Amino acid sequence: MLEVDGDLCGSFSYAYLTAAGYTVGVERFSAMSTTDFIPVAGPWITKREVDYAADAAKTAWNKDHYAYNAKFERALASYVGVDFAVSLPHCTSAIHLSLAAMGIGPGDEVIAPDVTWIASVAPIIYVGAEPVFADIDPTTWCVDPDSVEACITPKTKAIIGVDLYGSMADWPRLRSLADKHGLYLIEDAAEAIGSQLDGAAAGSFGDTGVFSFHGSKTVVTGEGGMLATNSEDIYARVMKLRDHGRPPGDRFFLNDEVAFKYKMSALQAAIGLAQMERIDELIARKKEIYRWYAERLKDFDSVRINAESKGVSNSFWMVTVIMDPAHGLNKFDLMAHLREDNIDSRPFFSQLSTIPAFADRPEARRFLPPEPAGSAMAEYGVNLPSGYDTTEEHVERVVASLKRAIL
Ligand SMILES: *Cc1c(COP(=O)(O)O)cnc(C)c1O
Repeated sequence: MLEVDGDLCGSFSYAYLTAAGYTVGVERFSAMSTTDFIPVAGPWITKREVDYAADAAKTAWNKDHYAYNAKFERALASYVGVDFAVSLPHCTSAIHLSLAAMGIGPGDEVIAPDVTWIASVAPIIYVGAEPVFADIDPTTWCVDPDSVEACITPKTKAIIGVDLYGSMADWPRLRSLADKHGLYLIEDAAEAIGSQLDGAAAGSFGDTGVFSFHGSKTVVTGEGGMLATNSEDIYARVMKLRDHGRPPGDRFFLNDEVAFKYKMSALQAAIGLAQMERIDELIARKKEIYRWYAERLKDFDSVRINAESKGVSNSFWMVTVIMDPAHGLNKFDLMAHLREDNIDSRPFFSQLSTIPAFADRPEARRFLPPEPAGSAMAEYGVNLPSGYDTTEEHVERVVASLKRAIL
């Protein structure tokens, strides 16, 4: 049987598949049998990514060490419609630098959704500030502006909204809350490149917008991130903070503050540039995978999947089901069932207010309602296989397994 690993391209399989006339990526799994393991995520890598990375290994040194990064940054800035973009080692560093550039620190509070990946919130603690959790909206799965408003105190300095699984938060309302109270707005678009709200791109709504190119995400560089902004001041501050506090143009190593070292390598940027040149086909494929699921689940009342609210174009990073609690299966039960059918999945993110990492911060949950809307999603939600290798046959198998689990 043909073994294909989850990394960029196992050299054997790449050579084999190229020789056999396959495009490395989606088509490669068509050679596999119907009971093979279905991975939950995975990139779409073509010859373009491989060629650019090889070229970067040869050419991206000395005066050209940043050439691929500059092109990747320009491609992303133009796609998102912002003035500045900075390539970084990961999205976590983009959130960290956002908060640091905004001058947020000890004594400050930052509001963030209770249900998201921990990376949205951990940087609040890196800068010495306190996270405050707001509930999420049961339809969009993103932070609920009413709940955000209830969390605002004189100590609040910023709001972090997250475009969860490609859905879009209510940015117009978050913006008006931020403006009314003089707060910064950070848009965590790690999962939402390619989504839009009222025609504007995910990542363009905050004072900063941040992206992840982790290998599981919609656009990949292996590990990687980007910070996007229209603010020249924030951009200048980020550029200094991410380079050990060197003043712009410093050639004498006369740093005037202690800061961070957060840069993306040219090899990663080369892969990212190739991905951005293919972004339309990447997003189209994500939407197609979603449609395969949506068609098969539309008459199936006992599960809900990702919604597209009014004005939203969702790029569907992960197709996600939320089970009706009446089935008595929580997310871990459903994952175990899928696993028996050789189908990988992931749990919906936990309520951060309930996980051990935040157990010693009871103030962070002081404004959450007694029965948060996020708890049902966090308990009954499962991410289904949504990687670029997902085929329509895989979706058939996943849906059949899902129906067997709950019928
Ligand atoms: C993946 C992710 C991040 C972190 O991205 P890294 O590149 O792994 O640092 C942040 N926020 C959300 C919502 C994510 O899904």
